[in-house]
Formats: sequence, C-alpha cells, structure tokens
Amino acid sequence: GEVMRETRTIQINAQRSRDELRLTQQKVQESEARIKELERELEATSDLVRHDQLTGALNRRGLEEIFSKEMARATRHETVLCVALLDIDNFKKLNDSMGHDAGDEALIHLARVCRDTLRPQDTVARYGGEEFIILLPDTTLDDAVVALTRLQRELTKKFFLHANEKVLITFSAGVTRLGSEDNQASVIKRADEAMYQAKQTGKNRVVATE
Ligand code: GH3
Ligand code: MG
Ligand code: MG
Repeated sequence: GEVMRETRTIQINAQRSRDELRLTQQKVQESEARIKELERELEATSDLVRHDQLTGALNRRGLEEIFSKEMARATRHETVLCVALLDIDNFKKLNDSMGHDAGDEALIHLARVCRDTLRPQDTVARYGGEEFIILLPDTTLDDAVVALTRLQRELTKKFFLHANEKVLITFSAGVTRLGSEDNQASVIKRADEAMYQAKQTGKNRVVATE
C-alpha cells in the first residue's frame, strides 16, 4: 500500500511538472513573438527617423550619420570622397504652374532616378526643400562630374507624367572633394558655392571645385 501511494504521488508530481513545463514553453514562445514584433517596430521607427518621408531618401539626420562614416572610411583607406549638392532648376515655377502635387512628384522622381543611376555605395539625401546631397565614395572629382552629368542625361530621358502632361526637370549641381582640413559643414559649403556658380552661369550645369 505504501509503495502504491508513493508511486501515485510521484505520478501526480510528474504530471504537475509537465504541465508547468508546457506553460513555461508557451510563455517563452509568446515572449519571442513579442520581441520579434518590437524589433520590427524599432526598425520601422529608425527608418522614419533617418529618411525623408516624401522621397524615401535619407534626411539630414540620416545623412549626418552616413557622412561621418564615409569621412572616417575615406581617411582610413586614403580614398577620395566627393560631395555634390543638387538644386532643382526653376522649381517654384513648376509648383506655380502645375501645382504642389506635381512638385512633390518631381522630388520623388529625382530621388528615384538618382537611386537607379548612381552606384549602390553612393548616398542620396534630401538636404532641404528641393536640394539633395550625394556622397560619392572612392570617386575622383573628374569621375564625380561624369556621374552627375550622366544623372542629368538620365533625367532628361526619363520625364514623368503629371495629369497626362510630360514634366521635365533639370538641376544645377556643385561638386567638390573632401580635403584633409574639411568637416561636413565646410565641404557642403564649398559644394553649395559651386552649385550657386552653376545657377549663375545658366543652370542645368555641373560645376566642380577642389
Ligand atoms: P532656382 O532655379 O534658382 O533654384 O529657382 P527655384 O524656383 O528652384 O528656387 P526657389 O528657392 O525660388 O524655390 C524653391 C521652391 O521649392 C519653393 C518651395 O515652395 C518649393 N518646395 C520646397 N519644398 C517643397 C516640397 O516638399 N514640395 C513642393 N511641391 N515644393 C517644395
Ligand atoms: Mg533651393
Ligand atoms: Mg531650385
């Protein structure tokens, strides 16, 4: 009788342990699912924080981060990093004549053509309203001019349609390369001055400066 009672107790305890184990396994699964969900949310949020919502290009904050990394990489590997500033020509006129939506589409279009035309390692960021910055790592100033000119050519080939009307956009650009004394602000300022020269000398041009 004693042995039977003990066996019975052991069986009951074993069953209890199995139940607890099953419950714990279930909790672990639930926690893992919740962690996955939070990871997805975090990824989406970090994307929101770093990207421009209209064009999907990096925003200023996203640019700053990549810029720091690219500057460090260029210094470490002693390679040339070029920086270009693009500004759409007569954008106000486009907004005024075709509407703000057409202007928005033009911005989306430009960002897409940049992504499709440039190399994967190049960075495209929306710097202001209709201004974009492009980082071209491991690229000489001459090659950067070639890349930007190709981008201009692509843009004239790939017009977009707004309300069944062809819309053609052009940009003016200034491009420079990172010097040993440069920081982000100084190199962007130089690219901006070159871009201004491109505007002054007739627009739809690329001006390079050391
Ligand atoms: P320029 O050729 O000298 O660059 O002349 P511009 O007309 O392009 O330049 P301006 O600076 O006079 O006008 C820029 C315009 O960009 C004015 C502003 O309303 C418009 N803009 C800025 N951000 C946006 C945007 O997100 N969407 C639209 N549709 N327009 C924008
Ligand atoms: Mg502008
Ligand atoms: Mg403009």
